[in-house]
Amino acid sequence: MAAQFDINELHWLLDIVQSIDVGVVVLDRDYRIEVWNSFMENHSGLSSAEAARHSLFELFPEIDQDWFSRKLETAVLLGTRVFTIWEQRPYLIRFNSYQPITGLADAMYQNVTIMPLRNPRGETDHVCLIIYDVTGMALNKRQLEAANLQLREQAHRDGLTGLLNRRYWEQSLEREFARYQRYETPASLVMFDIDHFKPINDNHGHQTGDEVIRETARLIRQHARETDYAGRYGGEEFVLLLPDTTLQGAGQLAERLRQAMERLTVEYLEQRVNVTISLGVAQFNEEMSSAFDLVAAADSALYQSKQAGRNRTTLHTPDDT
Ligand code: GH3
Ligand code: MG
Ligand code: MG
Repeated sequence: MAAQFDINELHWLLDIVQSIDVGVVVLDRDYRIEVWNSFMENHSGLSSAEAARHSLFELFPEIDQDWFSRKLETAVLLGTRVFTIWEQRPYLIRFNSYQPITGLADAMYQNVTIMPLRNPRGETDHVCLIIYDVTGMALNKRQLEAANLQLREQAHRDGLTGLLNRRYWEQSLEREFARYQRYETPASLVMFDIDHFKPINDNHGHQTGDEVIRETARLIRQHARETDYAGRYGGEEFVLLLPDTTLQGAGQLAERLRQAMERLTVEYLEQRVNVTISLGVAQFNEEMSSAFDLVAAADSALYQSKQAGRNRTTLHTPDDT
């Protein structure tokens, strides 16, 4: 009676191992497959009969043998379970993933538990692998990380234009000043302000004014390099910090910007608006004791451009603060 019950229990256990939605594999000490449950059959396309007695490494040569046998031997040696997680290695055996969001994951992410199995004599002569499909969880985590990165990035940007906001731009300026002090690499600043902007708002409406600001930002982006820092400093004031650029180089860029702005016609709600900008350009020099001396220098050059009639570029020279 007792023996009958034991056999029933064994059948139940086998049924359970067959039907659970995790991979169950038993290997002998030569990595030969002894148990290969239906999860493994379904995902590998290899039946239990086809897998039986074959070496795991022979059937799946892409497994990093050194890494995996080191993990497995640790489990045997210590007589405890050892885990591998998807963040270290995305998977042990490459299985296709059937996640609806394709492109993000075409292979199943796996966590694996390696469990030493002892025979009645107390020797570890087999090892059980339990393979979990953690693709959904891994994708969620990846997407969350991407969203967080985007949020952090957005916190640095101005909402209207997408340029760096003043706070973040000023931090970049301080870093660039520190770099200048340490290595004496040149860096320059182009600062500009839209001419007679108030009348645009008054005559065409605030929305058109906003569109002019957005178009101006687009123009800056077209002219800036990847390594430059383009920021919105105030309402219609913009800054472009140029690492590794001398006053002359920055002055040429400023002129190109001025001319491009002059040519630009902003069209919005059937209105056409032309605007010009006044620019001031300055370069870090040894008389400057803080990053903001550069802003002050460019600002004073900008003021001269306004005074001289607008739509022009003025280069700051160290003796005319
Ligand atoms: P100028 O610089 O040539 O001396 O003349 P201005 O008319 O441009 O002078 P000012 O700098 O005083 O005017 C800036 C105006 O910009 C005032 C403000 O109403 C407007 N402004 C500031 N921020 C925004 C904004 O985000 N959107 C819009 N539409 N207008 C803004
Ligand atoms: Mg203005
Ligand atoms: Mg202004």
